[in-house]
Amino acid sequence: MSLMIEAIYFVTAAVFIVGLKQMSSPVTAHRGIVWAGIAMVIASVATFGAPQIHISMDFADSPNFILMVLAIALGSAVAYISAKKVAMTDMPQMIAMYNGMGGGAAAAIAAVELVKLSDGGASHGVVIQTLAVLGAVIGAVSFSGSAIAFAKLQGIMRKTFRLPAHQLVNIGLFIAVCVTGYWVATGSPVSFNEVILFFVLALVLGIMVTTPIGGADMPVVISLFNALTGLAVAFEGFVLDNAAMIIAGTVVGSSGTLLTQLMAKAMNRPISNVLFSSFGSDGGEAAEEEIEGSMKEVQAQDAAIMMAYADKVIIVPGYGMAVAQAQHKLKEMEDLLTARGVDVKYAIHPVAGRMPGHMNVLLAEAGVDYDRILDLDEINPEFPTADVALVIGANDVVNPVARSNPDSPIYGMPILDADKAQNTIVIKRGKGAGFSGIENHLFYADNTRMLYGDGQKAVAELIAGIKEL
Ligand code: NDP
Repeated sequence: MSLMIEAIYFVTAAVFIVGLKQMSSPVTAHRGIVWAGIAMVIASVATFGAPQIHISMDFADSPNFILMVLAIALGSAVAYISAKKVAMTDMPQMIAMYNGMGGGAAAAIAAVELVKLSDGGASHGVVIQTLAVLGAVIGAVSFSGSAIAFAKLQGIMRKTFRLPAHQLVNIGLFIAVCVTGYWVATGSPVSFNEVILFFVLALVLGIMVTTPIGGADMPVVISLFNALTGLAVAFEGFVLDNAAMIIAGTVVGSSGTLLTQLMAKAMNRPISNVLFSSFGSDGGEAAEEEIEGSMKEVQAQDAAIMMAYADKVIIVPGYGMAVAQAQHKLKEMEDLLTARGVDVKYAIHPVAGRMPGHMNVLLAEAGVDYDRILDLDEINPEFPTADVALVIGANDVVNPVARSNPDSPIYGMPILDADKAQNTIVIKRGKGAGFSGIENHLFYADNTRMLYGDGQKAVAELIAGIKEL
């Protein structure tokens, strides 16, 4: 029987990898998610065939089985309802939360195994105990850190919070986690109080590492926790001798690591800087420089004329486009402009919006041709040849201070060069700052005009204006 389960795990691992491969293209991504979901269901069902699990509907005979079924039913119902209800703009918070749950689940497995040992259970041996401890630290840090990321993204917590000598406190906490982790990994018997102390310290470390990170760095942190969660699950897979957990955890860990590297590259920051420097942590308050010029407003009709008679228009979408759900209107406007012979392209910054690929998903949903959607490196040389750059709900990703002001908290982050277009039109509701909380010099530039209003409504007005011409 257990050979059969191993074979099923092997097949599901292959399906996970096929699913993951399909997620790398917007054309096949939906299918990839379905395949990965099917593999997860098969792996979960197969686990019930494990020799440790005694299947019986009598609670007295098999309490664990009943509790497992109840937990799965409850978890699935909550996940189904919340996933159906969540707004697309709240998806990053949801991902941060689910990430954290994965890390928390791995840490909980480790906790159960370690508490069993403190209760006089048979020792797993130092190697397995060490793996349990490693998975526990990583899982606990990922759990509490993701909870903080969730709170920041949800707007229920300040973007940054820093104690005096914060990094020193973190170093102290890290050493304390290492020491208690060593006691727990080598303890025979393991002390219950040491296990509790170890978990509390690891959870506090996750909180303390994440609270000072703000500004524009959250995407790197979220993908790092994603990778860590995978790693924690893989470690606990060794503890439980469960091949599906080892494989799924490793796949998540390695793909998460690649994503973290890509996000860090997009921010032009080594990961160590994101975690240990003050980049983006002060919301720019300390580093604002005087801005020359003023914001100049434009009416939708005039903006429509500028675009309708342009040769090339580059649209730069950002988080505000997602909030306004303006992607369908943008597609409608693109169709009108291309019918008039205007070359229309979309410029996508890797951290635009609130999750990796956020803009690509929305534009794909609206039916925008993938060939028109270009990455930062591809599109930046084209801005000087564009008659109009239409920035819709983007802020941080087009802020030129990232190029010009070494004191700025976002200095060094590559940006979309919308300021280099002949004319720039910015659609936003008012004078609200971007996620990093700093002023945007682009809005004050001579060739920039502000079209105030909700993204969807503003584009609808542009469409009406173009139609009148
Ligand atoms: P920003 O958050 O910098 O700016 C969004 C702008 O949209 C705001 O200035 C706001 O101005 C405007 N806006 C909000 N609602 C509307 C609306 N309904 N209609 C029109 N405009 C609107 O967005 P960017 O996409 O430029 O940058 C993303 C930021 O988020 C980066 O700092 C990035 O690091 C961070 N981040 C990214 C993640 C990712 O994985 N992609 C994850 C976590 C954070 P106003 O209020 O005046 O309308």
